[in-house]
Amino acid sequence: MKSIIFIAPPAAGKGTFSSMASKDYNLVHISTGDLLREEVAKDSDMSRKLTDVMNAGGLVSDEIIVSLLKQKLESISVGYILDGFPRNIAQAEILDNMLGELGQKLDYVIYLEVDKDTALSRTTGRISCPNCGEVYNTNIKGSEPREDNICDKCGSELVRRDDDNASTFIKRYDTYLEQTEPLIAYYKEKGILHSVDSSASKEEVYPKIKEIIND
Ligand code: ADP
Repeated sequence: MKSIIFIAPPAAGKGTFSSMASKDYNLVHISTGDLLREEVAKDSDMSRKLTDVMNAGGLVSDEIIVSLLKQKLESISVGYILDGFPRNIAQAEILDNMLGELGQKLDYVIYLEVDKDTALSRTTGRISCPNCGEVYNTNIKGSEPREDNICDKCGSELVRRDDDNASTFIKRYDTYLEQTEPLIAYYKEKGILHSVDSSASKEEVYPKIKEIIND
């Protein structure tokens, strides 16, 4: 049973590689961004609050995230990949405590390195299928849909995330530098940090991730 977390700036490939590795290694993929977007789609008082925070590029409160995540972690008995959590030191400490109570530990923390301009370009080009979840990118050669704005797999119309625009990206990136980047030192000290250059294509980057997990 393997447990993996990804740490990365926005649009560095967390979601993509979590999804590839979860299939290859039979792991449950838990994306806190996806869990939040599911809540947002419910159109409640809570969803309106979440929308405001996410579109401003900030972080949702630790309390909300932890309650969403706890339900998930308690219900799985196989290995998992956490995509988007922890995102600050307080969340990392909460995770350490939760895992301690469950008698589990983290195996790999994978840091995906990418420069700000590349991340910006990936953010503004990202579109996805609301029906089957397939992700495309109009700013990356070879990642565009065959037909403009139409999913190759199921024919649905593709959508852009509300927070995938240049001005929200800048705030998300600042939030990352301020709150999430300190996790690199936190996990380095624990001896479980692995860094991967994620600026190349996913076909080039993914084998490096597999090498880490196969170890
Ligand atoms: P990204 O591609 O920017 O990494 P995610 O889908 O992981 O996107 O997250 C989208 C947004 O959801 C974040 O900008 C943040 O507002 C919120 N979010 C996701 N995970 C967390 C978390 N662990 N703590 C607080 N907020 C979170």
